Amino acid sequence: MVATTEEVLELHGRVRECTACPLHLTRTQAVPGYGPVTARVMAVGEAPGENEDREGKPFVGAAGRLLTSLLESAGLDRRDIYITNIVKCRPPRNRDPEPLEVEACSHFLDEQIDLLQPDVILLLGRHALTRLLPGAGGISRLHGERVRLNDRVFVPLYHPAAALYNGGLKETLEADMRRVRGYLADAEAARARRAGGASASELRRVAAGAGGDQMDLF
Ligand code: URA
Repeated sequence: MVATTEEVLELHGRVRECTACPLHLTRTQAVPGYGPVTARVMAVGEAPGENEDREGKPFVGAAGRLLTSLLESAGLDRRDIYITNIVKCRPPRNRDPEPLEVEACSHFLDEQIDLLQPDVILLLGRHALTRLLPGAGGISRLHGERVRLNDRVFVPLYHPAAALYNGGLKETLEADMRRVRGYLADAEAARARRAGGASASELRRVAAGAGGDQMDLF
């Protein structure tokens, strides 16, 4: 069942009031997440940076602009995507989040995934990969692959911030993002099939797409 706006707003309210780790002492504001409750794609980054801390929304700086254009080049509209981070408050000077901070914040991300039930979860960078697919392998091996775990579809991708200064990585990220459209179509067809509503053509597409680019974990 799709979450209601009230449920998601209630969760966002709890994130904004959270004092579970020391990051609340240095933040301007927490950044819970942004996007429609009906989103079929969720994108998970690392942590808010300076711009996000100021505006209260994820991925609004340079990395965010690159994310928007990467999504567009793959035929995806950012407005259809729910975007959030592993850690909801900015670490001072944009340092990596500490394990205890990730731990204290993790239940919010779990709740977001449970509420929205996205068809595809994009893992932006190694922190998101390690948090949601621990032990699966590194980003250099898994980027662009489709990883299924517990009935969910994850796609590890390089973090857009890393691609800002590395043209080669940007091309890889563009190519990986183009694969996401196909994964999404397959996941939507599988969901429709589970709901008993898939058309014969969708089922054929799922069967045709169940080829070698998929990785199953555990
Ligand atoms: N980088 C992230 O990982 N998240 C943001 O929200 C912005 C930059």
